[in-house]
Amino acid sequence: MNISIVGVGYVGVVTGACFAEFGNKVICVDINKKKVELINSGKSPIYEPGLDALLKKHIGKNLSATTDINKAIQISDLIFICVGTPSLPDGSTDLKYIKSAAKDIATALKQKNTYSVIVVKSTVPPKTTESLISIIEQESGKSCGKDFGIAMNPEFLPEGRALEDFMNPDRTVIGSIDKKSYESVLSLYKSFKTPIIHVDLRTAEMIKYTSNAFLATKISFANEIGNICKPLGLDVYEIMNAVGMDKRIGRLFLNAGIGYGGSCFKKDLNSLIHTAKNNNIEPKILKSVNETNDCQPHKIVELAKKKLGSLEGKKITVLGLAFKPDSDDMREAPSILVINVLLSEGALVTAYDPIAMENAKKIFNNKINFSSTLEAALSVNKIIFILTEWKEFKKESLYYEKIVFDGRKVLNGKSRDNYEGVCW
Ligand code: NAD
Repeated sequence: MNISIVGVGYVGVVTGACFAEFGNKVICVDINKKKVELINSGKSPIYEPGLDALLKKHIGKNLSATTDINKAIQISDLIFICVGTPSLPDGSTDLKYIKSAAKDIATALKQKNTYSVIVVKSTVPPKTTESLISIIEQESGKSCGKDFGIAMNPEFLPEGRALEDFMNPDRTVIGSIDKKSYESVLSLYKSFKTPIIHVDLRTAEMIKYTSNAFLATKISFANEIGNICKPLGLDVYEIMNAVGMDKRIGRLFLNAGIGYGGSCFKKDLNSLIHTAKNNNIEPKILKSVNETNDCQPHKIVELAKKKLGSLEGKKITVLGLAFKPDSDDMREAPSILVINVLLSEGALVTAYDPIAMENAKKIFNNKINFSSTLEAALSVNKIIFILTEWKEFKKESLYYEKIVFDGRKVLNGKSRDNYEGVCW
């Protein structure tokens, strides 16, 4: 099939590369010229294992990128919207990118005489996708159901394992306005060996929010239990390993520590809280999930102060900046809060991350030092904070004679002196 991907950030570029791998002809569209040029040179604008290789394999063949949305839409059967949906200050979702993409698509549809389906992949609050219909009809003069279709196909990929998950998802959710739109999207997923869930547009939108809210809830629950375990001298990981064996519970997303980050959990929870309040529902659980999470990064600094006294003038190495391993994504990374608190306490920070340092430099400017290797980062300071569970940090022997504060249970820590885990 011929596909346009509008917005090629984390979700869009993975979606485009994977659909190309499945034999479709894909055009990636973005307003950011630099991203478009990078993709056309076979390089990914984000770090994701395997993505560069996939882009190199398909670019110039069945995959290309452009800033010219009109050209892309004219030859597309399916148009995926993958633009960002950030939070507004009141927690609601800023829909300006979605609406602007819909208008651009509608302008291009004016000149198009063949049927196409517009598929929202971005995470949007219930009722958003159907609200785009009138925008597109007014701008294009075309009619939904006859000239174009509308579908909502939420994305669940986890950064760091995005390709694997995109190609083998647990399920594919397709919300649609009508049967014809559904069947067009379905034909794209026919080679996927996963259950297909066909629902209406609003249900598809709500499934995505519910899924993220539940995952975040599991993490905050594990953190709360971990906070109780710590003063009791208990290891929350031992407890969760046993608890998670219960099939009704499951072990995933029960890792306690300095809390979740990333672009999605916090903003999606805030959006759901906003939706609840708009409907006169007080979302007590959801509110406490974000509140618990906001406290976790402070725990590791409190532990250090308890053990070392004032941090004024103390030299500290921070290992791990990205919000999770195998990603360069710094959005909402707990490392940002931890480092800012350390700086406000007067500490001198040196940081290292295998992949995220370029993105981190834009956030911290010259306020901290960066080491170009793990060994260099370890050699300059005795006090070490571990904030991301990169595999290369797991070697116990790296930390000989160091005082370690572990935010992610990277080390076992049991047989060490001078080791403190956040919740264990
Ligand atoms: P992102 O910010 O990385 O990328 C968005 C891209 O859209 C940018 O490259 C931007 O330049 C482009 N853009 C904005 N307006 C445009 C327009 N009018 N035309 C063309 N391009 C335009 O965002 P992301 O992290 O990929 O997230 C996209 C959506 O997917 C969000 O709704 C997010 O909640 C959802 N989502 C994200 C993840 C994730 O892990 N990042 C996972 C599942 C779902």
